[in-house]
Amino acid sequence: MSDELALSTVEREAGIVRCDACPVLCRIRPGRAGACDRYANEAGKLVRVDPLVLLAKPDLARVAFIEGSDAWRGELGKGEGAFVTGIGATTTYPDYKPAPFIVSSKPEGADMVTVVTEGIFSYCGVKVKIDTDRYLGPEQATVRVAGEAVGHVTTAEYGSQMLSLGGVHHLTGGSKKEGVVTCASLLALCNREAVELAIDGGARVVVQADKPPVVNGVPEERMRVGCGSAAIGMFAPQWKDHVDEVIVVDDHITGVLTEHQGGRFLDMKPTGIRVRGRKSTPGRYFQVAAPGLGWGGTELADPLQIIEKIDGKQAWPGLRLLMVSTTGEHAAWFELDHQLKPQPGDMPAAVRKVVERIAENCEPALSTVLFMAGAGGSLRAGVTENPVRLTHSVRESLTKVTLGGVPAYVWPGGGITLMVDVAKMPEKSFGYVPTPALVAPIEFTLRADDYAALGGYASRAVTLEDVLARHRVRLDETNQ
Ligand code: SF4
Repeated sequence: MSDELALSTVEREAGIVRCDACPVLCRIRPGRAGACDRYANEAGKLVRVDPLVLLAKPDLARVAFIEGSDAWRGELGKGEGAFVTGIGATTTYPDYKPAPFIVSSKPEGADMVTVVTEGIFSYCGVKVKIDTDRYLGPEQATVRVAGEAVGHVTTAEYGSQMLSLGGVHHLTGGSKKEGVVTCASLLALCNREAVELAIDGGARVVVQADKPPVVNGVPEERMRVGCGSAAIGMFAPQWKDHVDEVIVVDDHITGVLTEHQGGRFLDMKPTGIRVRGRKSTPGRYFQVAAPGLGWGGTELADPLQIIEKIDGKQAWPGLRLLMVSTTGEHAAWFELDHQLKPQPGDMPAAVRKVVERIAENCEPALSTVLFMAGAGGSLRAGVTENPVRLTHSVRESLTKVTLGGVPAYVWPGGGITLMVDVAKMPEKSFGYVPTPALVAPIEFTLRADDYAALGGYASRAVTLEDVLARHRVRLDETNQ
């Protein structure tokens, strides 16, 4: 043991133990926990505070084989039994020590092993998908927690705003406080807790995995049915007999029914109502207004503001105009008076029904939190003496990677860069160390002979019964 790791005689006599599960190397007094609260000193013995988590009816107890052969397809099948997750498994540090658990099993007669550990991820973050049309902030804007930069706004998706949070630059590249706040925010998000995020030049949004986002204090209810143009395409036939014109107000693509291919196809008569913005193709307009928290993700409280002019050669008194947003949350009915000015009126029941159908076709708005991390570094050394072979084995689908028993998406290309939906993982799957970094469970499942071939620690494999006999466990039945 190096001098740095060794305890002094006084410390030993005081019953202090050294935790070497991460580079912080805590000296822990009797009855106390280390800096991350994951390890404690119980009567002079270093223990992992949380029990090892087993999944009750895992997808992993059985594996799928190519029909008519004993070759594994690299897929995990349904089955009975228990699966040992990395939650509470303890960490190896430095990583070249074998993983804490190498569990053998024999599903459908094939010898399999699952290598189980808690990985310490300095290179990690979350991708957050927020189902809302409301403008959260400009792309690339900084996202803050308690005033510290923890990420940025990235490209919007179809009906969702996206944030990229964490990552090595915020964890290690800024001030100590920035790293600490980033780590705490990631930990809370990954453990499915609510976190309030402030976006520079934009909104404040409360995000919690698998729960509706709250934008500037207002819970979001609906995810848009599509863009303004798509809404026209979907509902044009249902509007045709009840309206003369429909404008679907959308920050991205506003749709104008009679100009749009959807209206023309139904032989609808042009109304001469022109909207602001840049025309893309007939009946499809970009940038009709600045983005904001109003109609269709624009800043507008009054939709009539997007009407640039009404052409007297085509429009007529009594023309019936519906204006609606992409979620149906905002809708207004107008008729043109003798000066061809839109006057608000009561929406006919048949039109209201279609507006309600827009809302009905919206899905509930949720926040989704995907944990993303690189497991391609030294963590692999706890699995095999020849780490690159593990990467190759994952690439060839011979090794299945799971986090807390949930199959991870592994990015193509180099390394083992993975993503997983935290909402599917057992509760409190994540921890942290003050380096700062997140601690996440990770399991590698593969055939025993493949494991031996890639230089694994096959001789250390134990059975599930051995694990149950020697460790405090918790059976998790959520999400099963
Ligand atoms: S921070 Fe946690 S894992 Fe790291 S040495 Fe301290 S108790 Fe051990």
